[in-house]
Amino acid sequence: MRPSLREKRAFGISEVPVNTSFEAGYLVSVNSGWRSIRPVIDSQRCIGCQQCYLYCPDGVISVTDGKADIDYDFCKGCGICAKICRPGAIRMEAER
Ligand code: SF4
Ligand code: SF4
Repeated sequence: MRPSLREKRAFGISEVPVNTSFEAGYLVSVNSGWRSIRPVIDSQRCIGCQQCYLYCPDGVISVTDGKADIDYDFCKGCGICAKICRPGAIRMEAER
């Protein structure tokens, strides 16, 4: 069984899947239809700290080559990633 962020035990970054939930096979169909705002990453500000990746409740953020990327097919627009990003690299924008 894969370790979960909800489990109350210490775990290392190496135990967390390095890909998004979709890529890991946890999500199978697009489900972002009711999102009203979306996170947008400023790659110039992103320092690749992986905090957004760790805190995203839907597991839709991946960090590749030190830059975060979001799978918009599954992002719900909750805004947690924008709140947790200390460098301010994520801003929420209205969905068009
Ligand atoms: S929390 Fe912010 S700086 Fe860190 S990886 Fe995510 S977008 Fe980049
Ligand atoms: S807005 Fe929420 S669901 Fe979308 S990437 Fe950020 S933390 Fe994940």
